[in-house]
Parts: sequence; C-alpha cells; structure tokens
Amino acid sequence: MDELSEFKRNVLEYLRQPLEDGFVSISRTRQSVVFPSQFTLVASTNPCSCGYFGDPIQPCSCSPHQRQQYWAKLSGPLLDRIDLQVAVNRLKPEEMTRQSLGEASAVVRERVAAARDRAAHRFREDSQIRCNAEMRSPHLRQFCSLDEGSRNLLEGAIRRLGLSARAMDRILKVARTIADLGGAETLQNQHIAEAIQYRTIDRLQ
Ligand SMILES: [Zn+2]
Repeated sequence: MDELSEFKRNVLEYLRQPLEDGFVSISRTRQSVVFPSQFTLVASTNPCSCGYFGDPIQPCSCSPHQRQQYWAKLSGPLLDRIDLQVAVNRLKPEEMTRQSLGEASAVVRERVAAARDRAAHRFREDSQIRCNAEMRSPHLRQFCSLDEGSRNLLEGAIRRLGLSARAMDRILKVARTIADLGGAETLQNQHIAEAIQYRTIDRLQ
C-alpha cells in the first residue's frame, strides 16, 4: 500500500483483524462468513504532509501539531501490527553514483532459507505453526526466554516508547528471527536491540 496515510481511516482499521488473526469475518443481518486472509503487508508513507521531516537538505514546513495529525490517522493499534518500520532517507550523491551493488539476492535468499529451516525444525512437533510470526504465548515462553540484560533492555524500551503487550510479543518474534538469521540458538541482547529499533519510526514524530 503506497502512501498508507492517504487511505481512509476505516479502510486502515479493517486491516487490523487479518493482520492479527489471518482471517476476516464479515457479518451481515442473516449470516456471517469467515475468509482466510494471510498476507504480508508492505506499506510506505511520507514522514509528514510536506514529506521532508528528517530530511538533511530540505527543511520540513509542518508544525509539530500538523505532524501529529498526520500520524494520528495511522492508529497505534495498526502500527502495533507492523513489525518492521524502517525510515528510508534520501540518498547522498556519492551513494547514488556508487558502483558496488552490495550483497547478491541469491546470497540473502540462502540465509533466509536457512533461518526458515531453523524455525521449521523448532516447530516440527506442532503442525499449526510454520514460522516465528505464528508463535503464540506458550511458544514465546519456550523459545524466546531472555537473560537479565535482554529483559532490562526490553523493559526500558516498553517504558520509553510506551509499547503495548502486543508490540512486545512482536518484538520477541522479530528478535527470534534475527537470531535465526545469525544462526544463534538463544536470544541475545543484540537481537532484542535490533528488533526494538524496527518499532520506533512513529515515535520519532
Ligand atoms: Zn513536513
């Protein structure tokens, strides 16, 4: 969904159920039906109505109140369900002209496949679950236990960023995947720290 904040608010609110539960239920007077609806949501939005908040060259012409209004449409409960929030900044001229292409997609693919295998192995005795995102509370307790340092880090972030219980669960799932991508058996501080930083974009306004 390009320009997420341009969609009508009720359209955005409808996304909440399928993003959380993987289905949509539609109720009419005579009956209600449930449709499967599992998908990956990829969405983009400007940082504010003028589009320049945080830009190193062009100053933002919005007032703090206008920026707040802009983000108010993307409600907390919707943003809670978006696991990876990434600010995409303007490229510097030297970055635009750089010749090197970085890591090849095939290499990244291998790493992702290995992480998925790790997760599949973890859930081999549970036919309901295929990947970390589908973990429920008992799985989180079993597979995302934290040492004291990681717990303190997470508690600090919850307090500082005003995160909900749902956001915390999602941080744990993302951290589990980051650990799987790095081939780590247990969750460590750096996995939690990286997962937390993917949830901060709406709190920067
Ligand atoms: Zn602006």
